[in-house]
Amino acid sequence: MFENLTDRLEKSFKLLKGQGQITEINVAETLKDVRRALLDADVNFKIAKDFTNRVKDKAIGQKVLEAVKPGQMMVKIVHDELAELMGGETVDISLKKSPSVILMSGLQGSGKTTFSGKLANRLKSKQKKNPLLVACDVYRPAAIEQLKVVGESIGVSVYTEEDSKDPVKIARNAIKKAKAEGNDVVIIDTAGRLAIDEQMMQEIEAIKKAIEPDETLFVVDSMTGQDAVNTAKEFNERLNFDGVILTKLDGDTRGGAALSIRTVVNKPIKFVGTGEKMDAIDVFHPSRMSDRILGMGDIVSLVERAQEQFDEEEARKLQKKLAKNQFNFNDFLTQIQQIKKMGNLKDLAAMIPGMRKALNNIDLEDDAFKHIEAIIYSMTPDERNTPALIDGSRRKRIARGSGTDIQEVNRLIKQFGETRKMMKMVSQGGNVRKMASKAQ
Ligand code: GDP
Repeated sequence: MFENLTDRLEKSFKLLKGQGQITEINVAETLKDVRRALLDADVNFKIAKDFTNRVKDKAIGQKVLEAVKPGQMMVKIVHDELAELMGGETVDISLKKSPSVILMSGLQGSGKTTFSGKLANRLKSKQKKNPLLVACDVYRPAAIEQLKVVGESIGVSVYTEEDSKDPVKIARNAIKKAKAEGNDVVIIDTAGRLAIDEQMMQEIEAIKKAIEPDETLFVVDSMTGQDAVNTAKEFNERLNFDGVILTKLDGDTRGGAALSIRTVVNKPIKFVGTGEKMDAIDVFHPSRMSDRILGMGDIVSLVERAQEQFDEEEARKLQKKLAKNQFNFNDFLTQIQQIKKMGNLKDLAAMIPGMRKALNNIDLEDDAFKHIEAIIYSMTPDERNTPALIDGSRRKRIARGSGTDIQEVNRLIKQFGETRKMMKMVSQGGNVRKMASKAQ
């Protein structure tokens, strides 16, 4: 995401290289470039103009510090202004009541159903909530079916009334059911249209009025750029929603919607969708997004994702195995699966500062572990537990079974042996250090 804007901004800051301080004259060209970069990212003209004016005021009024180069200072000013443009603070959703009711709105195809599932999944797994998903699209049976499939995949109940044509009634009945059955969050997925439509607006207004949700969220496809912003404006005028969900940010290389929406509707972006899978949801942090736009990576999000996937109990077990040199191919497989749960490799790597650029010309496969996994899956349980058993004829069989070749199998087994040796040394080294520190 934001690749183009990041590159453009990086280039514009280079103009200030070698300058002793920021003056009206030497910053003019940089500011022009920043504005052009924003326009190319599909940011609204007025927003881009106001933005560069604010940056200019701050930059020129800035006391010149000995230790900071003008280029670095500009990066900092632009960073803070970008974060401010996207809302400054992170704003959470409100879940104070029981049940808390969340109403989803947005056009058809924006990603409402997918996001409803992602949010339910997140609330269930991270906040130990017991959500109920509600299908209120009375026009498209396929939409009801889709929500059912989503619910099933994450183990969350879905309330439907397949023969009803009254979404207000469905929503009311669903809340009653949630109260009776102890669901503490109700997420209502509504019908969308391909474009703004009066009947749709009236319907969602009526639902909102009837059920008085704690949160009304507006879901929008970030890839639609300025259209996303215009749609947000119209929905906000009718619904006065509480927050925006930007979906498909994984495909949005320009970022105009993310940058403009907050200013236009004056409502916070609360979550972003970054893929089709149920775990591709991130809380929106303006400052971190700004880091990412400026190519500073997003180490904090990376660390958080790692922490979410990290199982301490498993880690302790692994440490013991490593120390005893019992690390086997099953453990190796578990490790690969943990890494994969964190997201696709290219996205993960791009969160590391400086890596995004380095990765530009490298084709990192989405599933770089495919061959390794295939090879391990072709081993028998005994072979996985005791890698020493894998002799020449077994290697041939494994290569055949996994659709790879013997060289690949040999390479993996050799690498595995080396990793095992290295890990043993590292874990013993750790113990030696501990012993040494105790002795002091
Ligand atoms: P709805 O009509 O608003 O309910 O939209 P859906 O939830 O059916 O989503 C429309 C399409 O967008 C589906 O194919 C989803 O898989 C896809 N989609 C939704 N969110 C994301 C996202 O964050 N990233 C990507 N790449 N695709 C998404």
